[in-house]
Amino acid sequence: MPVADDGPKPSEAAIAGPRVIILGFDGVEPSLVDAMIAKGELPNLAKLAKDGVYTRLGTTVPALSPVAWASFATSTTPAVHGVFDFIGRNPSTYRAAGGEGHLEQPRLAADGSVATPARYMSQRTGDAFWLAADAQGKRAKIIRVPFAFPVDALKHGLMLGGEGVPDIRGTASTSLWMSDTVTDEQLRETPGGGYYIKLSFAGDAATVNIPTARDPRPGRAASVQVPLNLAVDRQNHTVTMNLPTAKVTVEQGQWSEWTEWTFVVTPVFNVQAISRFHVIEAGEHVRLYMTCMEMHPRAPLVPISAPPAYSGELADRYGLYETVGWSHDTNALRKDALPEDVFLADARAETDWVEKLTLDELDRQHFEMLIACWTETDRVAHTFWRFRDPKHPLYTAEGAAKYGAIVEDTYRRMDETVGKVAGKLAADDLLMILSDHGFHSFRTGFSVTTWLIRNGYLAVEGQTDPATAINEKDFLNGYDWSRTKAYGIGVGGIYLNLKGREGRGIVSPEEAPALIAEIKQKLLQLTNPDTGKKVFSDIYTVDNAQAGAKANAPDLQFGYAEGFQTSKSSARGEATAELFAPNKDKWSGDHAASAAKETKGIFFANKPLSGATDPSIMDLGPTALRFLHVEIPADYQGKSLLD
Ligand SMILES: [Zn+2]
Repeated sequence: MPVADDGPKPSEAAIAGPRVIILGFDGVEPSLVDAMIAKGELPNLAKLAKDGVYTRLGTTVPALSPVAWASFATSTTPAVHGVFDFIGRNPSTYRAAGGEGHLEQPRLAADGSVATPARYMSQRTGDAFWLAADAQGKRAKIIRVPFAFPVDALKHGLMLGGEGVPDIRGTASTSLWMSDTVTDEQLRETPGGGYYIKLSFAGDAATVNIPTARDPRPGRAASVQVPLNLAVDRQNHTVTMNLPTAKVTVEQGQWSEWTEWTFVVTPVFNVQAISRFHVIEAGEHVRLYMTCMEMHPRAPLVPISAPPAYSGELADRYGLYETVGWSHDTNALRKDALPEDVFLADARAETDWVEKLTLDELDRQHFEMLIACWTETDRVAHTFWRFRDPKHPLYTAEGAAKYGAIVEDTYRRMDETVGKVAGKLAADDLLMILSDHGFHSFRTGFSVTTWLIRNGYLAVEGQTDPATAINEKDFLNGYDWSRTKAYGIGVGGIYLNLKGREGRGIVSPEEAPALIAEIKQKLLQLTNPDTGKKVFSDIYTVDNAQAGAKANAPDLQFGYAEGFQTSKSSARGEATAELFAPNKDKWSGDHAASAAKETKGIFFANKPLSGATDPSIMDLGPTALRFLHVEIPADYQGKSLLD
């Protein structure tokens, strides 16, 4: 008797002709890859270099993930796709705005039902290249590509959203940091990315209200508050949480399973979410970390996959999983709300999961294009560079001994993924590997806003002496626009206060070119007085910005030299007294506004490509389409590397 087999069988339809597989690893620094290949530490990538291609990959200006991945997806420059920064501004109101997209909460009818569903609005103009393949009947599997959200309605393939997928509050990730040791100063802080919550124990029990789903109705509290009852067992080092659906006990040093939540906003509208807890300490003191309220994969507030049911099918296949795009909680690490080793183990678990999904989707076949991306490489480099640069203000020998090679460790893990994927390919498949940009140490923060004030371009309300004026208000509040010629917000550039574009612009379009040239000249000559080193390697202007991108485009963009970035306070629009400050933030490696020519990514392919002499991140899409015999859309600015 034949044995029944209901598993997928390879067939003509399962593998029809050549396939292209692209693996993306955010923020891999080529000089480290070179050194590791030379030492034989990346055998799978070394094999690709030997048999196919290994070279630097040109990135965007700025060399920043939302910008670079938008160029990857659309094969266009920022002047066309319109994404320039994490933080942008609305020129008519000077209000800070999300640089790449935002979640619009649902609109509710008078009876509390949903009149207009929630939706995610991307700043990006232009379609992703996998849609061109889909239109030609090619089956694409797109797994967690950064900043390709909202997901595309593929007719033939499937897609799972990655970076860009918000939590249910619409933020990149707002986790909760609960402890009885939270100080008043911490409570006053609004660090972004999370909240401190003070636990006040009566004996061994405490109750706190936690902010959950947004209440979109006007005049209501911003979010639905839900009580969380905790009990600590100080002897056995456990915390028990009485959740609406379950009682969960977690030991010190452990994670809970995923908790499912339903938040009742109105009698006829609720929001579902998932979250996890980690108990850092359960003894004399209690410290508890709770992830953001992530979209429930079976009932997300907005679709996080295509087809929409795919995210739920994955939960059936693997159990509940991390859905939020900012999946490694760097903010909690920076604020000491998540210990280093917990952060690293959690980041690795996420990498493992995306690898498992990718390998399974390879095994399941039925595709001509598969793209999967990982972000651990980038997040670990951002947060642990302090231990690999002896000149970094947070460097310690002890830290270096423990974490000095942790970035390399993520690269070895990347190499393992590459090996496992390569092992599943057919001889005529094309495999391409990329990182969107490289990495630098971030030793010194430069306050762009302070520099603009000191040089007479930016004026603060009620302060007339440019030598001393400061601004402690964030997000462009507190400036005197009637005396301002140029201002800064975000990490990457300067905007003129331009008549006709800015709400209270004073610079005429005729004056603009000379003013841009003057500021550019001054910045290029600027040195750090302590070190004598040049602050900028390059200053760029955005030429030929298209209609959709024009209002978002900074008038000057930075190309910082090694060691410098815009200070965090300046990126928020504040102006400190000091021009330069040592970077004492764990966010110690960066690339955000580094000179693009010094911040290239990596590119590998499993076969020689005749056009891959100086490839750009815009070239992978056209290459994939050409390989699949799909016509390359005429408005692409990248080129096929096969030609
Ligand atoms: Zn990064």
